[in-house]
Amino acid sequence: MDPFDIENLNNTTIKILDGGFATQLGCHVQDHIDGDPLWSARFLHTQPQAIIDTHLDFLRAGADIIMTNTYQASISGFEKYLNLSKEDSYDLIKKAVNYAKIACNKFHEEFSDNSRSPLIVGSVGPYGASLHDGSEYTGSYGGTTPIEVIREWHRPRIEALIEAGIKMLALETVPCGTEAEILVDLIKEYPNVKAWIAFSCNQDGKSIANGDNFQKVAQKCYDLNPRQIVAVGLNCLAPKLVESLLKDINVNRSTNPVPLIVYPNSGETYTVDLGWINRDQCESLVSYIPKWLDLGVTWIGGCCRTYAADITRIKSEVMKWQHMQQKKLVTENGSYVNNINGI
Ligand SMILES: [Zn+2]
Repeated sequence: MDPFDIENLNNTTIKILDGGFATQLGCHVQDHIDGDPLWSARFLHTQPQAIIDTHLDFLRAGADIIMTNTYQASISGFEKYLNLSKEDSYDLIKKAVNYAKIACNKFHEEFSDNSRSPLIVGSVGPYGASLHDGSEYTGSYGGTTPIEVIREWHRPRIEALIEAGIKMLALETVPCGTEAEILVDLIKEYPNVKAWIAFSCNQDGKSIANGDNFQKVAQKCYDLNPRQIVAVGLNCLAPKLVESLLKDINVNRSTNPVPLIVYPNSGETYTVDLGWINRDQCESLVSYIPKWLDLGVTWIGGCCRTYAADITRIKSEVMKWQHMQQKKLVTENGSYVNNINGI
């Protein structure tokens, strides 16, 4: 079982992703995670076993795909906040892949029937997440930072992930079209690698974080590199916003639809002073799932404030929806046969 093998991926099967890594990691470590300049990536250095255990939680919960704990990992960040050399920083990103691999191996030992073969995807968070000025939520740097700076900042992490075996990247929580296009273009240098791209969005149900129209940016990114982009969509947004963003995205693209991915947060609100608040006011993420699947989403999971238990719930809701689809198909075929017989 090769946890990097992407040969058998197709766009019709529904794939279950993992949930919020930093959220689930909180079940394994005592230290503060939110607010740290390296976020969960610090624990690659300080508590590797907790990283492995967190991946395992998601695998046991039913995830088909787990993402490396590298969203906020960067060479410059590790140099600055962990006092590592450039080489050791690069190596730590590679270790993140290895920890996910160890978790997959352990999972296969536990479930020896081999019916599930999880895939490890390399997480690539936005440039703004390294700036610590809130711009990962606004994408404001997209219009002010030279393209080469963003491109070269992304390059070493992507290369380290690939060198460690990764064949699929999660280009995620991207707040502006400029950075998305840079990434979609950059991966052309690694032709054997595939990627999905997921955007962070505004509250208006139309635009990504910097105000660019989501559907236009999504369609453009897909059309720029359909050979390597396996899906385009949304992550870390409130579930209630998803439908209006995705609806009709493929209405004029019946022969060339954009494959869709969604992994929202729980809908809670993050505040610097209080952390995550308003959990009790959130409609369960799971209740939205049938609608998203009806819209054509084939990659589905969770982001911040979703735990391994939520992944189990997502998976069972997906299975319920699939069962209903099969029943519908049988009914339709049944009535078709009856009609033919009636002629
Ligand atoms: Zn998130």
